[in-house]
Amino acid sequence: MRITALAGGIGGARFIRGLRHHLDQRGNDTGSADGPHEITVIGNTGDDITLFGLRVCPDLDSLLYTLGGGAHEEQGWGRAEESYRVQDELLAYGAQPDWFRLGDLDLATHIVRSQWLGQGHTLSAVTARLAQRWGLPDQGIRLLPMTDHPVETHVVLSGEEPRAVHFQEWWVRMRAAEPAERFVVAGMDRAAAAPGVLEAIRSADVVLLPPSNPVVSIGIILGVPGVRDSLRGTAAPVVGVSPLIGGAPVRGHADTCLATIGVEATTGAVAGLYADFLDGWLVDPADATTTVRGVRTAAHDGPLLMTSVAAAADIAGAALDLALSLGRS
Ligand code: GDP
Ligand code: CA
Repeated sequence: MRITALAGGIGGARFIRGLRHHLDQRGNDTGSADGPHEITVIGNTGDDITLFGLRVCPDLDSLLYTLGGGAHEEQGWGRAEESYRVQDELLAYGAQPDWFRLGDLDLATHIVRSQWLGQGHTLSAVTARLAQRWGLPDQGIRLLPMTDHPVETHVVLSGEEPRAVHFQEWWVRMRAAEPAERFVVAGMDRAAAAPGVLEAIRSADVVLLPPSNPVVSIGIILGVPGVRDSLRGTAAPVVGVSPLIGGAPVRGHADTCLATIGVEATTGAVAGLYADFLDGWLVDPADATTTVRGVRTAAHDGPLLMTSVAAAADIAGAALDLALSLGRS
């Protein structure tokens, strides 16, 4: 089975790890009758930022660290057993910005990525090399950045004189509390989907949307030329998992992001953003009455919370079963 998923950071990463776990379990239960499964993950690069001359790709890194067993689980970003000696030294020099946490181990990723990019390799090629180190190919997981072109989500702040800040500054420094007018993706007008991205959607057996942020993760990937058309055109069933439970995000500020684009913070309204290509939508039991036109909505048989790998595997399995029950269109 070829499964393609679109992913932001933590919601995407925990879901894909659960999916991998579920598939291994399924293989064991059925004696691997359905052969090896391939998972292609299309990662959001709108969060990317250049800091101290280094290219940082927060969502790709969350995927690498989580799938590779090196993530800081409680924190939800960065490396486990991290230290901050380099950043402390930068702060002693008064270097800016001081609001984005960069751990020593994490910095090694950004240094090597920047070095390889500087040598002329594409972000796809660099990401594949990083993924090798974290054992993704051995797990049957291929991680593709949505595009090789540098793109960055910026936030246009409301106010007398509109000004834009990088998404990270709004999200991390301002904690999304500064009223925003809209999101713009700098560089997207010149961007093209990275090699393999559109093909992975078109030729998939199943397409899954993890419970990633619908606006600044999934929404950004959908803006890459050709992605939305490929989702509309694929014969594979497309099934998503709600990032909201009872109208509230499980973590982060998805509700604020939705308000910014004028969309209600309900699971039904989020599914509505995908209605032109979505076949199935998995929701929390609290949202069981949700209906979305043209979309089969199903309530999970437990909380839609990825509180452990096993819980995430259950959710991923339910999403996959929903997709398989809908079949190819
Ligand atoms: P980020 O890039 O690190 O912010 O991560 P994503 O965009 O991949 O995911 C963030 C979204 O995942 C948020 O909107 C959360 O509501 C959602 N999310 C995180 N954990 C869970 C969970 O356990 N269950 C569900 N249903 N959604 C979750
Ligand atoms: Ca992100």
